[in-house]
Order: sequence, then C-alpha cells, then structure tokens
Amino acid sequence: MFFSKSRYTRGAQCAKSLWLNTYNKDVLNSSNKSTKTDIGNKVGELACNLFPNGVKMEFEGSSFDEKCEQTRKLLENNQEVIYEATFCYDGILIMIDILQNTKDGLIINEVKSSTSLKDVYIDDCALQYYVLSNLNYKIKQVNLIHLNNEYYRSDFLDINQLFKINDITKEVLLNQNQVKENLKYFEEILSKKEEPDIDIGTHCFDPYECDGYEYCWIKQRNLCEKENVFNIPKFKKSFEFYYQNTYNFEDLDDLSIFTKNQQIQIKASLNKEIYINKENIKKFLDTLTYPIYHLDFETFMQAIPEYKGIRPYMQIPFQYSLHIDHKDKLEHKEFLSECGIDPRYEFAKNLINDIPKDVCVLSYNASFEKGVIRNLALAFPEFSEHLLNIEKNIKDLMIPFQNKDYYHYKMQGSYSIKKVLPALIPDMEQAYNDLDLIHNGSEAMQSFEAMQNMDENERKAYRQALLEYCKLDTLAMVKILKHLEELVK
Ligand code: SF4
Repeated sequence: MFFSKSRYTRGAQCAKSLWLNTYNKDVLNSSNKSTKTDIGNKVGELACNLFPNGVKMEFEGSSFDEKCEQTRKLLENNQEVIYEATFCYDGILIMIDILQNTKDGLIINEVKSSTSLKDVYIDDCALQYYVLSNLNYKIKQVNLIHLNNEYYRSDFLDINQLFKINDITKEVLLNQNQVKENLKYFEEILSKKEEPDIDIGTHCFDPYECDGYEYCWIKQRNLCEKENVFNIPKFKKSFEFYYQNTYNFEDLDDLSIFTKNQQIQIKASLNKEIYINKENIKKFLDTLTYPIYHLDFETFMQAIPEYKGIRPYMQIPFQYSLHIDHKDKLEHKEFLSECGIDPRYEFAKNLINDIPKDVCVLSYNASFEKGVIRNLALAFPEFSEHLLNIEKNIKDLMIPFQNKDYYHYKMQGSYSIKKVLPALIPDMEQAYNDLDLIHNGSEAMQSFEAMQNMDENERKAYRQALLEYCKLDTLAMVKILKHLEELVK
C-alpha cells in the first residue's frame, strides 16, 4: 500500500482518522474538499512561475513507477527545476511541488494556498525530506511557500510579492526522528482490523476540522443528543468536563465556575426558559433612530487577487440587501453585481446612493460589514467620506444576543442569526427552508463565482435565488428588531 503525504498528515493529527480513511471511509464526511483542492491547484500552478522553465510530471497518463523513473532520469540529466517531482521509498509516495536541482543539492519547495506557516506543513515537508534522504539524495534546503496576505495587487500581479518563501530546513531536520516514530506507529495501527480506541480531543480540530467529526462525536458518543459543555461558546474547559464524564448540562452540580452568561445558557437549557434583560435591551434600542437601514452584504474571496487593490482572501462584496424601516412603511433596495467582473466600484456607488449620510444603519455581526466598507473606502477615495460616514453609523443587532440580554434555550449557546431567528420568530425559519437554490452565505459565495460558467437560464435562476436569499436576511433583521421592541414596550 502506498503511503502519501496527505495520509501521513492525517495520521499525525489522529491515527484513528487514518484507520477510518483506510478501512471505513464511508463514515467520513467528504463535503467541501473539491473547492479547497481547486484553490490549492491554482496557487500551486502559479507558484511554478517563481521557478520557471521546469519540467512537469503530468498527473494523468503514466503510473507512479513511471513518474518516479522519469524524475530520476531528469535529475541524472541535471534538469534544474521539476514540478511534481515524484519519489517512492519503502511504500511512501511523495510528489514535491517544485524541486530545484542545484550543484549543492536539492531544494524542496512546498506550496500552500494559506497565508501563514503552520506546524502541520513542517510535518508534511519532513516526510518529503525523509524520503529523499533515504534515497540518498543530498538536500540543500527545504522551503515552504505560502501566500502573502499583505500584498495588494496593482495593475499587474507581482508573484514575487504575492508569495512568501520561508526556509524551514532546521525545523524539518529536527522533525526526522518524529517521522520515523510516526511511520512505525501508523504501520502498527493499520496492521489491525479493529478500529483504534482513540477518544475525541482537541486534536479533532487541530490542525484541521476532522472529517470524522460526525462519526466520532455524534454517532459514537451522542454528543448532540443533550446540550452539553461543548455548546458553551469559548469555554476552554470542555474536555476536562468530558473526561470526567460530567459534560451534559444535567450532570453539572456546581455552576459557580461558569460566568454569568454561561450560567444563563445552562439554566435556560435545563428549564426550557427564555432569559430577557429588558433594561439592557432597552438601552440598546435607545441607541437606534428611525428610519433604520437594515443592511446585509454577500462577499466572495480570491486566493489569487484578480483585481487591482485586492489582497489574497480579502472579502470582495458583490451584493447587498437594504430594508429601510420608516416605522410606518418598509422599503427595500438591493444591488447584485454582474458576475465575472470586479463588483466593488458599482457596489460602492450604489451603496452611497441608497444610504444617505448620518442615518442609523443596522447589521448583524456588523464588524463584517464595517470591514468591507473600510476596504471600499481605501479603494475608492472619491466615495471614501460617504462610505466612512455609513461605517461610523452602523450598529450591531447581534449585541443583545451576544451579551445574553436575550437568550432562548433553543439558541443552544449560539448568537448567530441562523439560531436566533427560529428561536424568536419560528415562522421565518420556514421562509429559509422554502428557498430553492441558496440557503446560506457560503452557498451564495459559491453560486456567484459559479455563475460565470452557467448558461443564461441557469444564471437567471441563480441571480433570482441570490436576490431572494439576501432580501430574506435583512427582512429577518427587521423582524428581530420588531420583536425586541415589542418585548420592552
Ligand atoms: S473526530 Fe477526532 S477522534 Fe475521531 S477520527 Fe477525527 S480526530 Fe480522531
């Protein structure tokens, strides 16, 4: 059996995950992987331009043995740069993103589409070093190349600034004993037909959210059956409670170690209660003035910035919905960009057209809208004063829920609008369920990008779905605010 880099890093995170991936793959959740792989591939291909004139081992067409042989021959013939250079040692198969062949030895370049250096990348590169050194190649250096999120694209994409190259040779060398130990351990785990008895822990999310989450947490341990300490946001002692077998709220005898807000959550859950602090809600409502502009943005991101003034993974706004509540009537405005173009200029122009200066603007989780507007103000100085005025006047409807001034036991510790809304206004949950194509922000983001490649009819349907979805988000805000106002009347 071939052992690959991805299987090695999976095993380094959790040997049970490696075992499941080998013998019981069906229980692992496979969603969302293809988008990440596509981004990784694009970034990897672009990074090859940092080391031009190389030879690429094509993924399709030849067997791994043939690729290994081809790589060996290229190195013998002093080929200076090889992309996807392929090697195999003792059943471990690796493909090196960009291999440089210098007179002082080989340089391994591993490319990642993230914007920082992470420990898991050292593990990945350490395995590559292990294989090459055991094949008796002289290795001069190991580099980790990732995107630089401080780089703003100008008229042209400067790949020398877009990528950061980190020399991680020392770290990789220090990791070599660990590689040997890990491989021995994985061999032992995989030689057994029984699933390894490994409990859940912080490793389930570090460095990646494990695709075995549903299997281990929900199916095997029933951790979603009753509300428990894992539902308490930012609670650092969850695993302590779990290992003592007192993690369900009903098993907690001493609540004094919990903060006031955590106690509100636990008590509300146990007694099926709604907690309301009318005084604080009123204080929040007193900060708002009519007409109220309920605002919601949809955005997408690009790992490789295609437009001037964009940096990797910056939120690029393409759509907004705006419900203007005049108290006696409700007005709706919206903007949705054409796809395949830089939407920001038209977005900003329409936004300042629809929202006058010095009015009360309301968003849910407003730091997001505020950040997007600040970036627009930087990009378009001609709109900057007006945009920053809007940004200054944005209030956050999430605050009463985040502060637990309103807490419904059905919110299960969350203050996201998707949990708050059905708890407060059950009828509106159905409105979201009735949406046809788009039900959440990530679907909106993916759909907008995918629309470029759709035929006209499909694109029309998705445009309509985007408009309906975003409109529902601001309508939900209007209803939530009305609900709070009724409460404190
Ligand atoms: S969910 Fe946790 S315990 Fe289960 S396989 Fe993944 S990392 Fe291991």
